[in-house]
Amino acid sequence: MTSHVQLPEPTAEIIAVQDDLVTLAPLENAPLIKNEVVYIIPHGPEREGKPREYLKAEVLRVRGKSAEAQVFESTAGVRVGDKVIQSGEMLSVALGPGLLSTVFDGLQNPLADIAAEHGFFLPRGVLTNALDQKRKWAFEPKVKAGDPVMAGDTLGTVPEGRFEHKVMAPFTLTGSWSVERVREGTFTINEVVITLRNDRDETRDLTMVQHWPVRRAIPEGLVRSGQSERLYPREPLITTLRLIDTFFPIARGGMGCIPGPFGAGKTVLQSLISRFSAVNIVIVVACGERAGEVVETITEFPHQPDPSGDGTLMDRTVIICNTSSMPVAAREASIYTGITLGEYYRQMGYDVLLIADSTSRWAQAMRETSGRLEEIPGEEAFPAYLDSAIKGIYERAGVLKTATGDTGSLTMIGTVSPAGGNFEEPVTQSTLGTVKTFLGLSSERAYKRFYPAVDPLLSWSRYQGQLGDWYRENIGPDWVPRVEEMIELLRKGDEITRMMQVTGEEGISTEDFVLQQKALFLDMVYLQQDAFDDVDVSAPLTRQQETFDLVYRIATTEFAFGDKDAVRTFFTEQTSTFKNLNYSADGSNERKDLLEKINRNLHAAPTRMNQA
Ligand code: ADP
Ligand code: MG
Repeated sequence: MTSHVQLPEPTAEIIAVQDDLVTLAPLENAPLIKNEVVYIIPHGPEREGKPREYLKAEVLRVRGKSAEAQVFESTAGVRVGDKVIQSGEMLSVALGPGLLSTVFDGLQNPLADIAAEHGFFLPRGVLTNALDQKRKWAFEPKVKAGDPVMAGDTLGTVPEGRFEHKVMAPFTLTGSWSVERVREGTFTINEVVITLRNDRDETRDLTMVQHWPVRRAIPEGLVRSGQSERLYPREPLITTLRLIDTFFPIARGGMGCIPGPFGAGKTVLQSLISRFSAVNIVIVVACGERAGEVVETITEFPHQPDPSGDGTLMDRTVIICNTSSMPVAAREASIYTGITLGEYYRQMGYDVLLIADSTSRWAQAMRETSGRLEEIPGEEAFPAYLDSAIKGIYERAGVLKTATGDTGSLTMIGTVSPAGGNFEEPVTQSTLGTVKTFLGLSSERAYKRFYPAVDPLLSWSRYQGQLGDWYRENIGPDWVPRVEEMIELLRKGDEITRMMQVTGEEGISTEDFVLQQKALFLDMVYLQQDAFDDVDVSAPLTRQQETFDLVYRIATTEFAFGDKDAVRTFFTEQTSTFKNLNYSADGSNERKDLLEKINRNLHAAPTRMNQA
């Protein structure tokens, strides 16, 4: 499937090499441009009769007559005097049908194709096409000759798996264009499907593919009469994880982060979110983490049924994979590549979820490059622009009204892996200053196997307020205040637990012990959720409401137990009954019996009311 891309003649040469940073100078007077993609041709292989290599690099800084570029591959054997081709283009991705179900590296090289042609190990310097060049797609025009066309307009559609892929007019189109000619039928992505003509009688041939520079957001205000606009996120992204949906929601089109120490469950939590969230398309950016974890996703997703009922998870997933064993520079690009693909599907009106694991590895790649450029370092040697780079990424998330009046969204959730789990370090701090949902994982909870190991006293969601109307309309006016009450209970429970660690159980009153047990009960049966149970792994919102109402009733009942043993016995029994309730399928007899049992237990329990 790999075919070799046509490139122009070399116009520059290497004058210095330092790890993956090279310095170039033009051969004649061709200007070097910041962010331009260049290709280095190491002269070794050709002399030895091997095929030419083309090492992709990006110009980071232009200084006078020379420029520094970061090379996305190993620079072994690159020497002063090696020739350099200038592409004249920014680092870009190809946008068109065939993206879904594909595994790319950070530079949009399709890994399966490379593996088929070259074996498991990535060869250096091979140029590939991101999208299949031979496959034919059924193009159905949505415009006819004479129709005016503006940037982002839907020109036609192509079935891509079970999705309708919109072929849109180039996002860069300016001026007054109309359709000159349109074709219907099956075409490869290199065939012209539409020709446009403008008011100066210039024509432009379009295929089903356009390219977009990854470091720039696809413009939002694309569209005729300024219809396309950014909207305020007003709905939660339902993940079917109780702890998130009930306590720390993420808005659809919002941004969240999952910081946590090594082994606390970041990757597992992100994988659960990507499997069960109510979105159309998922983009997984596996950035600099161990290869094993990524391989797990790649091998599992094609076999896992999509919870929405159709096909497999892989049918609606794009994986961008730069593991710790791949070159560092490409890591930095991988996040931008992922976001750009996400923006593209959002423009079609889809709800997209972008998962980035881990943004710390991305920031470290940035730190390495910045160090080699000898830029003035900020905190912990990260570049001074770390904060704006992190904001620049997350802020590409959002809800958008598209050209056609549809709504599309891009939700972004990134993990952060601070060394030693220290949340004070710069990447975590900048991320916390940007996102609006913070799910902080604690090694203490992971050690106790309280999964997901999100610390409820550390975490927050700033979406609770702006989603308030949605909760009032879709659940009820009590929902948000009751959730807040339960967080307060967890806080009190934690205080009492700490006190008990000092004074022992005897040192606290029975009343306080009841509070402590209520908080523990809430934690055990509601915050924790069993990822290995087929039913409990995913709790739809209606199910969350049903359980929450019962848990809330127990948590707010004023019990009147005789002694602490009675308290413990009661809550131990409730915990086990509710766990079984979590495992019982909706509509099953087992569930019915458990609900009855819970009600019986509650009536039988000694309360202030029935004792008075
Ligand atoms: P991290 O990405 O933070 O380093 P992982 O997500 O890889 O951590 O999790 C490490 C291990 O912890 C997993 O291999 C698994 O055994 C366990 N684990 C994490 N989350 C869960 C969960 N929700 N349920 C059960 N086990 C979990
Ligand atoms: Mg991980």
